[in-house]
Amino acid sequence: MSTKDVNTMKIAPKIWRNGEFINWDEARVHVMTHAIHYGSSVFEGIRAYHTERGTAVFRLTEHIQRLLNSAKVYRMDTTYTREEICLAAVEIVRGGGMDECYLRPIIFRGLNEEKPAFGVNPFPNPIECYIAAWDWGKYLGEEALETGVDVCVSSWTRTPSNSLPAVAKAGANYMNSQLIKMEAILGGFSEGIALDDRGMVSEGSGENLFVVNNGKLITPPLGASILPGITRDSVIQIAKELGIEIQETTIQRAALYLADELFFTGTAAEITPIRSVDRITVGAGKRGEITKQLQDIYFDVIHGKRPAPNDAPWLTYVNDTEEKKTAGSSSGS
Ligand code: PMP
Repeated sequence: MSTKDVNTMKIAPKIWRNGEFINWDEARVHVMTHAIHYGSSVFEGIRAYHTERGTAVFRLTEHIQRLLNSAKVYRMDTTYTREEICLAAVEIVRGGGMDECYLRPIIFRGLNEEKPAFGVNPFPNPIECYIAAWDWGKYLGEEALETGVDVCVSSWTRTPSNSLPAVAKAGANYMNSQLIKMEAILGGFSEGIALDDRGMVSEGSGENLFVVNNGKLITPPLGASILPGITRDSVIQIAKELGIEIQETTIQRAALYLADELFFTGTAAEITPIRSVDRITVGAGKRGEITKQLQDIYFDVIHGKRPAPNDAPWLTYVNDTEEKKTAGSSSGS
């Protein structure tokens, strides 16, 4: 099975749908699908990287656990276990011969065509579960990892968690993210940072945020309406191993301007330095030393060149039968 080429983007030719592998072109939904009208989806973004032992998926178990947590919050009962979904994800990457890729598992409320229900009430609609994969380059641009990006503080507030829970990675949350992103792009910035409903720093439209001050890392706490990012957690664990002090605490908007270094974390954005906020230069206006140190280690870990902190099983090697059998069975975090 070879990869499909769509406008030079490599795409895994098979998509996993409710327990079976179907062709990319067959993975279509009806326009009256509940999720399209009412935002009823939860999803994940996962990356698989090239390593010397073949392609490896980064923190697969933790991502699929977060997917199932998101589904649980929205009462979307899926019949698939974490292990089954992990194995399907591995198979999509392995079977598609993907060297590196981005994986998109999604669970959503579909349409029962025999007994359609078009109202807000989600319960009559079937739960659909899919996984697709494609080769996605650097999210904020190839150069961004080195030179950093220019960002703004958004005029849009991050949705409070008592409206849309930030712990769940739900499609609906990304309407808020889209407002943040569009405003940033139209203002000539790469990304926007949202404040929470108390005016404290929350996160980017699709990234968590870290401040470096006097050699210390500071990041908003989980209470600041942020997604509990898996890259955020990875950076915290790497920093701990390096003996860097970390504070999970509230950050004022002005502290962004005064930071020594600032960076985003996310599966798509990886670790991306921020060189200015609202056109105010951050630190030296380029990638800082601690950001670089964390990036170097992170990139070594994701490419299997050095072990994860505490030798944690962060990589699932898709061609390794042992790993395949145990995919999804590690404890996760
Ligand atoms: N916040 C938001 C809103 C996101 O969409 C993402 C990307 N999933 C993140 C943070 C970073 O999370 P992770 O490191 O798990 O990709």
